[in-house]
Amino acid sequence: MKKLKRQTKVIVTIGPATESEQNIERLIKDGVDVCRLNMAHADHEWVRAISSRIRAVGVRLNREPAIMMDVKGPEIRTGYLQNEIKLKKDDLLDIVFEAQPVPPILDDVWQIEVNYDKLPDHINKGDTVLLDNGLIPLLVLMSSPKKIRCQILQDSVLKSRRHVNLPGIETGLPSLTEKDRSDSIVGIECNHDYFALSFTRDADSIDLFRSFLRENGSEAQIIAKLEDQKGVSNIDEIISASDAIMIARGDLGIECPFEELPIIQRRTVGACLASGKPVIVATHLLESMIESPVPTRAEISDVANAVNEGADSLMLSGETTTGKYPFKSLNILNQVASRIESEIVPGLSEELRLFRPKAKMLRSAAMLAMRMKHSAVLVFTRSGDLAAKLGALRPNGAPLFAFTDIDGLHRRLRLIWGIEPFLMNFSENPELTIKNAIQKLKKEDWVESGDQLVTVTNVFAGGKVVESIQLREVE
Ligand code: PGA
Ligand code: MN
Repeated sequence: MKKLKRQTKVIVTIGPATESEQNIERLIKDGVDVCRLNMAHADHEWVRAISSRIRAVGVRLNREPAIMMDVKGPEIRTGYLQNEIKLKKDDLLDIVFEAQPVPPILDDVWQIEVNYDKLPDHINKGDTVLLDNGLIPLLVLMSSPKKIRCQILQDSVLKSRRHVNLPGIETGLPSLTEKDRSDSIVGIECNHDYFALSFTRDADSIDLFRSFLRENGSEAQIIAKLEDQKGVSNIDEIISASDAIMIARGDLGIECPFEELPIIQRRTVGACLASGKPVIVATHLLESMIESPVPTRAEISDVANAVNEGADSLMLSGETTTGKYPFKSLNILNQVASRIESEIVPGLSEELRLFRPKAKMLRSAAMLAMRMKHSAVLVFTRSGDLAAKLGALRPNGAPLFAFTDIDGLHRRLRLIWGIEPFLMNFSENPELTIKNAIQKLKKEDWVESGDQLVTVTNVFAGGKVVESIQLREVE
């Protein structure tokens, strides 16, 4: 039985450091599971070109990563800048709402663009505005319809398109903006597998987004990005409405008191495990590696902690978009995840609630595979549900082979902990389907003669179809 690289999955954000065909090939060979396209930075032509490139290389290498379009939702950013600018403590800055690629200084006041012109309706004198993940704090001196005058509270450097955070302030932005709609249409056209919705605040925004996708002919799944206090207080309804959760620690760590962050992370991972929804830990996992070839010790511990807590996926952002060491970053996740996984005492998650009898049988199947040497679980799935539940049981050490005949599902399943997905036609006869699957596993060197596969499947018995757990030895 081939040993899996790791059971925790990895999402890589694609950018200048990784977008070439050669680099995408390298990412796939090094085990990337999901490629993320961040619509805060990407334009439509780029999305089209990169998506078809990822697909083509994936097919060629017979290992297709899923593609995730990250739509910006009610996110506020500063505008495009041709060059970064240096800001000085106590200088004045006007937030304005027209493009300022080369920000002028009018009467000693910087003119800086922000992409939301209704901001003055929600901002008052004395409020705090944070630019670039809190690196640039501003104190509001005056708010008027055309500009918000601020005092800069710290020497800093402003780069292009930085986040704007307003902790605790309701911005009145719609959950799905016009830009999100037009971006998503391109994602649908490119047949993207996942759409991540930034700043998900409630279940309604997920339902709205889902109707939009379905109306436009997409069956893609939705990842809710947990990024602010509203999202945290509505986490239960958000988990049930969405297909997966991303703990977006970048914004979350500014919008909430930062000492709450580890608690929110641990609780959210636990809640997702209990409901069988995949959960992603995102942002700053290896932040220092944007510039440095080695991670900090604290970053290694953070990655290890996410693996220990039971995250399905770890996500890289700046490390792989503009970072100097994108492949090193990916390989450090590979190395740390696989080492930490080998230390986890084999055992099944007790949190997952299973309702259908077939789903309940998974627990026994997973247990059996974990207890035997050279053993794996083999499942067949059309909705993805059985595979998601199987992964959520977290059977450490046992490979989980999931076969589907639904094109696209074989990519989406890559997000889920431990699942190695395969696309294959199913036969009318379940026995033949199992045989074909085992043959494929053998041909692709996943298993060898003598390995034991535990399968949960339908069989005909006494003229009826019954569910069964079977042990198949590879011939
Ligand atoms: P972003 O989301 O990179 O789109 O901002 C992730 C985060 O906020 O952590
Ligand atoms: Mn964010």
